[in-house]
Amino acid sequence: MSLKNVRAFRRSLLDWYRRYGRDLPWRGTRDPYAILVSEFMLQQTQVSTVIPYYNEWLYRFPDFAALARASENDVLHAWQGLGYYARARNLHATARAIVNRRHGRFPRSVEQIRQLPGIGKYTAHAVASFAFNESVPIVESNTARVFTRLFNFRKPIDSDMGRKRLWQNAAMLVPKANALTYNSALIDLGALVCVPRQPKCGVCPVKKFCRAKNPETLPVRKSSPRTKRLIENHSLIVSRSRILLQKADRSWRGLWILPLLQKSPANQQSIYKGIFPFTNHRITLNVFAQRQHKIDRRLQRWIKINSLESIPIPSAHRRALRHLLNGHRQNYMTVDR
Ligand code: SF4
Repeated sequence: MSLKNVRAFRRSLLDWYRRYGRDLPWRGTRDPYAILVSEFMLQQTQVSTVIPYYNEWLYRFPDFAALARASENDVLHAWQGLGYYARARNLHATARAIVNRRHGRFPRSVEQIRQLPGIGKYTAHAVASFAFNESVPIVESNTARVFTRLFNFRKPIDSDMGRKRLWQNAAMLVPKANALTYNSALIDLGALVCVPRQPKCGVCPVKKFCRAKNPETLPVRKSSPRTKRLIENHSLIVSRSRILLQKADRSWRGLWILPLLQKSPANQQSIYKGIFPFTNHRITLNVFAQRQHKIDRRLQRWIKINSLESIPIPSAHRRALRHLLNGHRQNYMTVDR
């Protein structure tokens, strides 16, 4: 695209954004903390799901200091239902790093922002752009789709070469001034007009700059790994209005789950079966009624059924608990997320 066309492209995009851009809660702030929270939440998660979580999170933890003071239990509980809990742990670790190592001051440079826990190139650029109006490009799912179509780029975008080209295209188009509005406009164009399945080219404000031949076939990705099926067996052990739960490890580290069984009990039917996706896995969760046994005090704990609402439990296990504890329903009222 020539320089003249780049300028005309930005003008068309910004004119459209002024009329049709989305009014999202994190668009009304320049607070790096609030923007960082929105960016962590938006990774792998839709805007409509994020909005109530974002509002509640800022009410509960209004700044880095409040989040740094919170316990891991409270942080995971507030994140419960959003999935990919490593994001919550990284956000918590970032808050503690800002308070303990940087005297509460959030860094301004992209290089320093990238040194914080769990912050990659996109998130660092997003915060620099949306909080500090830095002239930096951003490439996320919406803008990647727009770029591949604008430039009719037909190589896999999840290859090293594909990623490099996307960032180069993004850098070529980003303006020196007001990158904040421009980057927001580009994201909204991808979310509202240049949508994945049936792009609305007929009403697209940048159609005259677009080289896509078959836009619905873009972007191209390497073939995704096949979904693997896994079976997990857990036990339900209830005693005197208490239930035995276990602290999870790995991806659900810090959350509470039904105690894991190494294998399904012989000659016993499960009392609950649920299926849920997890990254590229499809997991069948079986639950078996078990009698009280010797508990592993390092990992397991008796929890009062009427206090289950206040502890972090992953959605798949909470669904199982709600179903299985139906008889205790009056004691176990919870919000399903
Ligand atoms: S013309 Fe169509 S494919 Fe090209 S940017 Fe606009 S919506 Fe996307």
